[in-house]
Amino acid sequence: MDRPIVDHRGPEFANLTLEILPPLREVFGTATGSIVIYPTSGTGAWEAALVNVLAPGDRVLAFNYGHFSNLFAQAARRLGFRVDEVELGWGQALSAEVVEERLRADDRTAPYKAVLALHNETSTGVTSSVSSIRRAIDAAGHDALLIVDAVSSLASVDFQFDAWRVDVALAGSQKGLMLPPGVGVLCVGPRAIASAAGGGSPRSFFDWRPILVDNAAGFFPYTPATLLLFGLREALKMLVVEEGLPNVFARHQYLASGVRAAIEAWDLRLLCEFSANYSNTVSALVMPQDVDSGRVIAYARDHFGLALGVGLGRLKGKVLRIGHLGALNELEVLATLGGLELALKGCGVPVQLGSGVAACQEVFALRQEQGTRLEQSGSQVTGGQEQKGIQ
Ligand code: PLP
Repeated sequence: MDRPIVDHRGPEFANLTLEILPPLREVFGTATGSIVIYPTSGTGAWEAALVNVLAPGDRVLAFNYGHFSNLFAQAARRLGFRVDEVELGWGQALSAEVVEERLRADDRTAPYKAVLALHNETSTGVTSSVSSIRRAIDAAGHDALLIVDAVSSLASVDFQFDAWRVDVALAGSQKGLMLPPGVGVLCVGPRAIASAAGGGSPRSFFDWRPILVDNAAGFFPYTPATLLLFGLREALKMLVVEEGLPNVFARHQYLASGVRAAIEAWDLRLLCEFSANYSNTVSALVMPQDVDSGRVIAYARDHFGLALGVGLGRLKGKVLRIGHLGALNELEVLATLGGLELALKGCGVPVQLGSGVAACQEVFALRQEQGTRLEQSGSQVTGGQEQKGIQ
């Protein structure tokens, strides 16, 4: 990215675009979906998804199970769609049963046009099963489009756009894609493209039709975020070619399990209610009643330069979040846990120094041992597309 800026109407830039689109399709798990890239953030990607496929007054089924799912529903409401926002517990996943129940009970004279779902709710550290949401929509015999926010899961957790028959998936550059903020990426399926072709809402910048046309030759109908796209090409090479996506997903799972072992050793709890929904990209840690999470976060920042996530919305002061996604390895996780342990102790949380770090080290040591055993038996292939034997 640290290079002279290219002419975005010249051949070098066109080649860059054409090199980026195929590996992005791989990251979304699609052969049939089209990629649309915008110079925007995740919030802009929401808007792009909504205004292309929905017409003013369309009904939308949304769920409130954390700060970002709530904001997604709010964005849809502000754009003029009629949103039914079902309140779920913060710490719970999006329940397929509730989706099915709501769709079965839908008014078929003016049915929901879309269901909004978050694959990973970043504020609560909860991952929902998109495949079961798809099954719920099918079981209800409903035709709604499935729009999935994968902002904090894409490129860190497996995503299967085609197999789960997602209609629109969206993400931002600043999480699993390991880039600075500034690029929003959508994957759009044939039903979404058809819906946008003949309808949608009044739109200009976010209209994906001219982008898809110009992208075919590697160009954009406006000035794209050129240098971020050089970074994106490199990030995709690291993910898809050098480490291999299955290994990337396995690494996230394994680093996250180290973080969770530390939390257990501290005798603290995750906000996420069920282990099946533990997020491999972010852990939201509930503070004891008398401890303000903001104080622990400030302590960690002021004493160690450690950046932890604040409690968002109604979770302010109650949780702190440990991000564990993107370009991350064992030593960075251990350093984070070591700093957090000191900050917790400094703020009066009765944790035993070293206990969380040691519990995490045990997880990592076991993995090293298993890896060595696999290597000795000749079944481990490192790099490329092969799994490293860690699930
Ligand atoms: N969706 C999720 C799941 C997020 O975590 C975020 C931000 O963290 C957003 C949407 C909004 O993205 P942005 O802040 O890039 O606009």
